[in-house]
Amino acid sequence: MSIQSFHPPVRTLMGPGPSDVDPRILEAMSRPTVGHLDPVFVGLMEEMKVLLRYAFRTENELTMPVSAPGSAGMEMCFVNLVEPGDKVIVCQNGVFGGRMKENVERAGGTAVMVEDDWGRAVDPEKVEAALKANPDARVLAFVHAETSTGAISDAKTLAELAHANDCLVIADTVTSLAGSPLLVDEWQLDAVYSGTQKCLSCVPGLSPVTFSKNAVDFITSRKTKVQSWFLDLNLVLGYWGGGVKRAYHHTAPINTLYALHEALVILQDEGIENSWARHQKNHLALRAGFEAMGLQFVVPEAERLPQLNAISIPEGVDEAAVRATLLNSFNLEIGAGLGAMAGKIWRVGLMGFASNQTNVLFCLGALDAVLSGMKAPIRSGVAVAAARAVYG
Ligand SMILES: *Cc1c(COP(=O)(O)O)cnc(C)c1O
Repeated sequence: MSIQSFHPPVRTLMGPGPSDVDPRILEAMSRPTVGHLDPVFVGLMEEMKVLLRYAFRTENELTMPVSAPGSAGMEMCFVNLVEPGDKVIVCQNGVFGGRMKENVERAGGTAVMVEDDWGRAVDPEKVEAALKANPDARVLAFVHAETSTGAISDAKTLAELAHANDCLVIADTVTSLAGSPLLVDEWQLDAVYSGTQKCLSCVPGLSPVTFSKNAVDFITSRKTKVQSWFLDLNLVLGYWGGGVKRAYHHTAPINTLYALHEALVILQDEGIENSWARHQKNHLALRAGFEAMGLQFVVPEAERLPQLNAISIPEGVDEAAVRATLLNSFNLEIGAGLGAMAGKIWRVGLMGFASNQTNVLFCLGALDAVLSGMKAPIRSGVAVAAARAVYG
């Protein structure tokens, strides 16, 4: 047997994540591995907390990356904030709200669902009604940027409603962090999780999280033990908590943390407001191109995410064949629909490093070529010019 080294092709990643990784980040990952208790590594951990507080716009002491992907950050928030018997109001307007429900139930809680149409923002009036009808609810959970549909919800208003009813807030910001304005302290979000492979353009595998003082007070005075040993913050803090004395909890993914450190340095150097503005600008150019072709957005304009563009598939088009041709002939990945949206939409990501003019023009040109080659009902030859006009 002689299996060879693995050499992946160079793709352009314009799906729902992972997004293109900045070469600076890949280079950072290849630096020498040190021990997870080495003082130089502890120094990196402290810098990481500072950089993450900058990205989340928070002063929260407890701000760190979980050593596993976004789904683990989700689970960390739920297992620490929900005790058996607790009632949690969960907003669902796409795939990820459904996962929140699973998390509540597996933590022994009861989920009260607030449902909205897929492709729309969470409706604050429905949330307010659910809070009024369930005065015993302890937590409100919602997805800020629903990657399965491309809709953004008003996190500030939802958090205000929750606090007026004495609920803590769990917010999924996996796709919003660094791509859309996210102000953890100003909006008073209590437990917030994100991911590295979306608008931070880092490799997958880590989940930045941040917890408010109220959330920490709850976690440290729980009546029951957190049911997950690995994700119990009371234990994780022995390693990630402040001070020079660190206890072994698990071996941190050292080189992946180098990558996140570099991604956050890049974000700091760009400036977070500039990163938000760049995502918006490239979205507007892509939108102009799609509209010129005659492709329709799924989400109403006011609720659209700039970093995740969901468009309806034109009549009679084999959507999987389009994606396969883009991948095989153009090395371009775009996303399919997820859950109830499967087969109905494409999801074109403009996340992090991938949110740039070259990618916008490349994607429009490639999609135009593939669709017109299939005789799909689009206007051909106009999309790239429409997008260029937005750049001026
Ligand atoms: C991608 C994503 C997740 C899950 O993150 P993984 O890193 O894939 O585990 C959770 N929530 C939202 C909104 C996401 O887009």
